[in-house]
Amino acid sequence: MPTYTYVCKACEHTFEMHQAFAEEALESCPKCSGELRKQFGNLGVSFKGSGFYKNDSAPARPSSTDS
Ligand SMILES: [Zn+2]
Repeated sequence: MPTYTYVCKACEHTFEMHQAFAEEALESCPKCSGELRKQFGNLGVSFKGSGFYKNDSAPARPSSTDS
């Protein structure tokens, strides 16, 4: 089951959820009910803001063309 990372746009609360692809995405922050942004790992997405941790357990990827 994939792990999704959610970040609250309002309070920047970050947490992970184990969800199936068919499961509905969360939309509200459990802390402040603010709007959540869903983040996907290892897709080369650039994140705004600071303090986002690196996933140092991910292997080096020679390219981003695999799918
Ligand atoms: Zn929040």
